[in-house]
Amino acid sequence: MKALVLNENRTLSLTDRPTPEPDAPTDVVVRVVQTGICGTDRSVLVGKFPAVPGVVMGHEAVGTVHSVGTAVTRHRPGDRVIVNPTLYCGQCPTCLAGHWDFCENKAGTEVGLDLDGAFAEYIRLPERFLHPVPTGMDLDRAVVVEPLACALNNIEAGRLQAGETAVVVGGGPVGVVCALAARHYGARVLLVEPDPYRQKLCREVLEASDGGRVTVHAPEDGALAERGDVVVDTVGSLLEQALAYAATRGRVVVMGYNSNASATVRPLEILQRGLHIIGAGDYNSMLFPKAIELARWLPLERLVTHRFPLEDHEAAFAALAAGSGTSYSALKVVLVPER
Ligand SMILES: [Zn+2]
Ligand SMILES: [Zn+2]
Repeated sequence: MKALVLNENRTLSLTDRPTPEPDAPTDVVVRVVQTGICGTDRSVLVGKFPAVPGVVMGHEAVGTVHSVGTAVTRHRPGDRVIVNPTLYCGQCPTCLAGHWDFCENKAGTEVGLDLDGAFAEYIRLPERFLHPVPTGMDLDRAVVVEPLACALNNIEAGRLQAGETAVVVGGGPVGVVCALAARHYGARVLLVEPDPYRQKLCREVLEASDGGRVTVHAPEDGALAERGDVVVDTVGSLLEQALAYAATRGRVVVMGYNSNASATVRPLEILQRGLHIIGAGDYNSMLFPKAIELARWLPLERLVTHRFPLEDHEAAFAALAAGSGTSYSALKVVLVPER
């Protein structure tokens, strides 16, 4: 099969790999229909997040079941499935305590980072990490369920309540999904994004249908006089800015992945303003079915602005400002294996 493999120098190459077959009795091999490019994938290529050279990247995938191991009971060939790429062992003390997202045995199980992922024609996973696509749900919506699970996890960690104000920092796909989810929770939402092209896309997706409960702002915009009861930093390097957007007693959730970021906080400000700084991981896999249910009500397919075959990966990442001299010209980009 064709697969996009990470090189030592943080580029990708389209490579021939053996097509996977069920290995363990509970394995399922999925024929990939399409895979979203995540901000984390972009971070790997631009040097802001680690991944293991030689790995097949990609984790936001939908497809159809191709073949199943002898003990698989939940899926049959031909079923449409969504990949939950947040694997857990189920047996370490943290998993046994129910905190699957902080599994202590993650090494070698991070799909698309140190375990072969879905920028490929096929992917193999244990059956419990595959979920049926609800009848009638478009695969362009289903492919955004995994980012929605991340958004849901972080919004719930911020304990967002109906009637509160949420500030979402960053207008990439995850920012937009956070804003949609926060609105669904009954919040007023302010989204902050500096890039003019992305502001425009965010407005198209968010403001069009929604009577002013979601507004899009530039960082210097005076309208942010309204502060957030919950602030979500979807960029991962903007904690100082996020704290400044927080109301008294505000909850600030760090969400974006950036291994190079550091921040200076003033402890007295945290104390005097009663601020909470929260880290919530990616998501507990127990949340994944809830994300699928919520996806029935959110127009997630509007995020998918671009689609490229695997071999055009350079153009695909360039649309996400991951090449030198490139700027954003897309929201969610999906890669499609050509057959
Ligand atoms: Zn992702
Ligand atoms: Zn574990």
